[in-house]
Amino acid sequence: MMRIVLLGPPGAGKGTQARVLARRLRLSHISTGDLLRQNVSAGTDFGLEAKSYMEKGVLVPDTLVNKMLSRRFDEPDIKSGFILDGYPRNLNQARALEEILKTKGSGIDLVFYLNTSEGVIIQRLTGRRVCKGCGANFHATNMPPKVEGVCDNCGGALYQRTDDVAETIKNRLEVYAKESAPLINYYEASGKLKRLEADGEAGVVLEEMVRLIKFS
Ligand code: AMP
Repeated sequence: MMRIVLLGPPGAGKGTQARVLARRLRLSHISTGDLLRQNVSAGTDFGLEAKSYMEKGVLVPDTLVNKMLSRRFDEPDIKSGFILDGYPRNLNQARALEEILKTKGSGIDLVFYLNTSEGVIIQRLTGRRVCKGCGANFHATNMPPKVEGVCDNCGGALYQRTDDVAETIKNRLEVYAKESAPLINYYEASGKLKRLEADGEAGVVLEEMVRLIKFS
């Protein structure tokens, strides 16, 4: 049983890796971005509040995200372990996560930092296609679906995220550098951080993570 956090800039491959890793190790995949997008499409109070922040490419306020995450952690599947993708995004959230886990008598076991260069990030984000049905990620050229516009996993329609456009990507990278990058040192200091070079192929990065989990 493992509790894993994936760190890295937008476009590092967190979502792609988390999905495959979760299936392989039978862990729950928790993506705060996916949860927020589900709330936005369902028109919930969380969604209505989060939408404008997400469209600008800035962080949704911690209070909202922490509440949403805390509810997700009340679900029973969490007990067999999880992979967090897109959370924590700042030091305040990292501390909130520790508090939430402490109430359940547990903590984080491993943090993978997917180091990715800016050119790769921009190329990945501008070509990204996401499934409306299951949230799986594809890429117009790097990871195309078998049938254009259709998800390989569930047959759902693929779309381009509204925040995957040049101007918003720029904001998201600035927010990452300022607010999220300090988490690297934070988890390094706790001795839980494993750094991976993530510019290359998804499959290679995945096998490296599996190897590190086995030896942890
Ligand atoms: P992602 O799918 O992880 O790229 O997240 C998309 C957007 O959702 C981000 O640009 C933020 O606006 C918001 N978001 C996702 N996770 C968080 C979080 N942990 N804290 C604050 N905002 C978040």
